[in-house]
Amino acid sequence: MARLAQTHGLTDVQQEILSTVREFVDKEIIPVATELEHRDEYPQDIVDGLKELGVFGLMIPEEYGGLGESLLTYALCVEEIARGWMSVSGIINTHFIVAYMLKQHGTQEQKDTFLPRMAAGEVRGAFSMSEPALGSDVSAITSKAVKDGDEYVLNGQKMWLTNGGTSTLVAVLVRSDEGHPEGTAPHKSMTTFLVEKEPGFGEVRPGLTIPGKIDKMGYKGVDTTELIMDGLRIPANRVLGGVTGRGFYQMMDGVEVGRVNVAARGCGVAQRAFELGVSYAQQRHTFGKPIAQHQAIQFKLAEMATKVEAAHAMMVNAARKKDSGERNDLEAGMAKYLASEYCKEVVEDAFRIHGGYGFSKEYEIERLYREAPMLLIGEGTAEIQKMIIGRRLLEEYRFQG
Ligand SMILES: Cc1cc2nc3c(=O)[nH]c(=O)nc-3n(C[C@H](O)[C@H](O)[C@H](O)COP(=O)(O)OP(=O)(O)OC[C@H]3O[C@@H](n4cnc5c(N)ncnc54)[C@H](O)[C@@H]3O)c2cc1C
Repeated sequence: MARLAQTHGLTDVQQEILSTVREFVDKEIIPVATELEHRDEYPQDIVDGLKELGVFGLMIPEEYGGLGESLLTYALCVEEIARGWMSVSGIINTHFIVAYMLKQHGTQEQKDTFLPRMAAGEVRGAFSMSEPALGSDVSAITSKAVKDGDEYVLNGQKMWLTNGGTSTLVAVLVRSDEGHPEGTAPHKSMTTFLVEKEPGFGEVRPGLTIPGKIDKMGYKGVDTTELIMDGLRIPANRVLGGVTGRGFYQMMDGVEVGRVNVAARGCGVAQRAFELGVSYAQQRHTFGKPIAQHQAIQFKLAEMATKVEAAHAMMVNAARKKDSGERNDLEAGMAKYLASEYCKEVVEDAFRIHGGYGFSKEYEIERLYREAPMLLIGEGTAEIQKMIIGRRLLEEYRFQG
């Protein structure tokens, strides 16, 4: 859609990357997305194409073979990709978070080992905080690492790993008591381990099992799994950053850029829903005229387009703030919250515009309707975003009386 969600002030390089990705989305993703989604089929050809375009290395520094691009460029690409099919942006997102965490917190040896192969898309990342009994309350993690000579022995069960089966490198957050005396705050006794594994399901490394895909309502194609550690031995040099006790902060840093990414996905899905709605509204006739000519439908289109614009502006602002080196947790939280709520509303309006046909699997909006709710949950629910936003506001507007 030419008019909505424009971004001013982009460099020539950013514009070129974006138009290449947009073309790829229009030609290679949109025509096949719904069919693949209905079959819950992994989009291997699309992934191979994105590898060739260098999308897996977009933000990885050039010295490691990536494109060294900004968070803004990355987020705008994600917006385009999600406009085509949200699941594809999910395949990239956990990879991007793990690469970002390695770049920010990894030892030199860890960066040299993983980043070049991640830039090429040969090593693919997943990240794992959630467990069966917790998602929002990360400090309640029970999976544990115990030191044994030069290794750590990991035990516990993880839940909801996006790309759990297809990835070959998982950043896993566990509790590690070593060096942290009794009574240490939970978030200071957690460690991120870089766990290498074979792709696939079953026992993918001694002591590590990926049971199978979780059957989901939407967000199909991309695999979401559990992960079971039973005496999994990891060498000490695979502690992210080489020092235990920093995992909570490393993960929160990763999730913060992930939130901009989820906001971008919300923008992309909402844009597609608007495109579908505005097109259908001009084709379907009732009471002797296209439904787009009924004021009630025009009002819907106006509200949808306004939401698309507002979400895009907030997402771009959050990305630019991070790129400028400033703290962006407030803006990222707001962007994620607003974009995911608006996305759900825009998709629902587009669904209503389709009348009964929106309920048919022949129409793309049916897929979007099942995909949008995931954005309300992933990378922190709406309630968690509002907690972050509220706390930051009270810091900024401290009562001085
Ligand atoms: C498709 C999918 C993919 C995912 N991928 C990943 C992944 O790759 N890696 C990963 O680690 N996790 C992943 N997750 C997990 C996701 O991050 C969690 O589901 C999410 O954080 C919410 O946690 P929960 O499901 O345990 O809900 P809970 O934390 O149990 O929350 C339940 C409800 O209570 C509310 N709530 C919780 N605490 C509070 C509070 N203090 N105040 C007010 N309300 C509260 C929540 O907002 C929610 O409405 C994925 C989830 C899904 C569905």
